[in-house]
Amino acid sequence: MIRYLVVHCADTPDHRDVTAADIHGWHQKRGWDGIGYHAFIRRDGTIEAGRPVYWTGAHVRGHNSHSLGVCLAGRTHFTEAQRHSLEQVLWAWKKTYPEAQVCGHNDLDPKKSCPNFNAKALWKERFGA
Ligand SMILES: [Zn+2]
Repeated sequence: MIRYLVVHCADTPDHRDVTAADIHGWHQKRGWDGIGYHAFIRRDGTIEAGRPVYWTGAHVRGHNSHSLGVCLAGRTHFTEAQRHSLEQVLWAWKKTYPEAQVCGHNDLDPKKSCPNFNAKALWKERFGA
């Protein structure tokens, strides 16, 4: 059962146009099964597919079996287009998994600062739940 919808950032320079394919390549080089997120959002807001939702992700220690992960290109400042796309992705997932809670990587792993903004607060402010 999916309990968490986890927001990440790629921790790449804000000016760099990173794609899901880039992440896939980097993760493969580390010896992983490629991209560990289920969705990726480029700087211009383009939403790209990662792993299908029926395939367990690799993005948050201890919670992969019951979460989905979405990652935004960048590190500190995210674009309006990215914010809009993030809401779209989370909204779609929320419809499929109404019980799931939106949170940031840092909410599940206090050692991480990712995604460098308060994902829970963003969701609450926008959708109030
Ligand atoms: Zn993360």
